[in-house]
Amino acid sequence: MSDEKLPKFDVKATSIVVIALFLGAGIGYGTQTPAISDLNSDVSSLKSELAKSNSEVSSARNELSSARAELSKTTSSLPGLSRAGYYLYVADGKNNEVNVIEAASFRNVATIKVGKTPHGVAVTPDGRYAYVTNNGNNTVSVIDTSTFKIIAEIPVGQKPHHARICPHGVHLFVPNEGSNDISVIDVATNKVIATVPAGSKPLYAAFTHDDKFAYVSNSGNNTVTVYKTHDLTPIATIPVGTKPHHIEVSPDDKYVLVVNDGSNDVSVIEVATNKVTATIPAGKKAHGITFALSPAHKWLAYVSNIEDKTLSVIDISTLKVTKTISLDKAFSCLGTAPGRYLYASHAVEGEVSQFDVLSDKVTNTLSIIGGELHQVTAGY
Ligand SMILES: [Zn+2]
Ligand SMILES: [Zn+2]
Ligand SMILES: [Zn+2]
Repeated sequence: MSDEKLPKFDVKATSIVVIALFLGAGIGYGTQTPAISDLNSDVSSLKSELAKSNSEVSSARNELSSARAELSKTTSSLPGLSRAGYYLYVADGKNNEVNVIEAASFRNVATIKVGKTPHGVAVTPDGRYAYVTNNGNNTVSVIDTSTFKIIAEIPVGQKPHHARICPHGVHLFVPNEGSNDISVIDVATNKVIATVPAGSKPLYAAFTHDDKFAYVSNSGNNTVTVYKTHDLTPIATIPVGTKPHHIEVSPDDKYVLVVNDGSNDVSVIEVATNKVTATIPAGKKAHGITFALSPAHKWLAYVSNIEDKTLSVIDISTLKVTKTISLDKAFSCLGTAPGRYLYASHAVEGEVSQFDVLSDKVTNTLSIIGGELHQVTAGY
């Protein structure tokens, strides 16, 4: 009986209260419950996308590494070639840059900031380093060609113009047009090891292929100074035409061809005697010079005449102009890579052209925006 008087714990009522509490809670948090499930599904779809792109990345990596392996197999089977062919290094005096153009595709593959008003570029025989003369701030920038990054900036004389590396790859000759001397840089240490006197306003250096002699053009007093390459001693001074600038040694090491900007001709120095044995007329404002094999397998010298917009073609065996080629746009400096093409800068237009010596035609032109281009040098 007493049991019956005790307040009864009503199971049904308790359940209702508990359910009501749950509902209350449900209403209270009602706005978040669906968002959490949305987020959960977002996370799981992102996870599956991530897994998909991870596997895409890893398969792309695999493809890249097998392509690299294929490439190195191909290049290692070509004697002397460890890279995908030749590159052209072009000094841009206005943007203070060197542009690197892959010769085969004629594509710009790198643009490298250098010093002020770069003018000349020289590449080591193994293609590993490019040296850039900064005419505006008296230094030479050294580019590592495997990364296209600057690894050194070497102070030299006043207003370095062009530069040239001896055929051994040991010495870099830098003619300084402002201080009338040559800074000689040891390529192994990137240090100036000697400063040797030149004539007035020296601009350009060239070496015989046997590396015995170096020739430097002095535009201020119309001479060429001859040096013993490794002794670094001047052995002769030769009078040439007016304002000599670009000079090159013929492929047979018999002659040094000196292009005279002021007298519109080419002085021919005989290597054996250090005497001018011929003067070949060229066009107005004769400037660049390079060599290429003719279709008839003779060595020809090509001289660019800026004002005439022509190329004078000289047969090295006769030292005579065999033809004059008209161009749409003037070529400034000239360069060659082994093969059938010449490369030319159009200084003011900011363009580089590829010229086919077998067809006498421009076959490619590339624009460097806002550029003022000088030397074009090939290296691999
Ligand atoms: Zn120059
Ligand atoms: Zn040498
Ligand atoms: Zn030039």
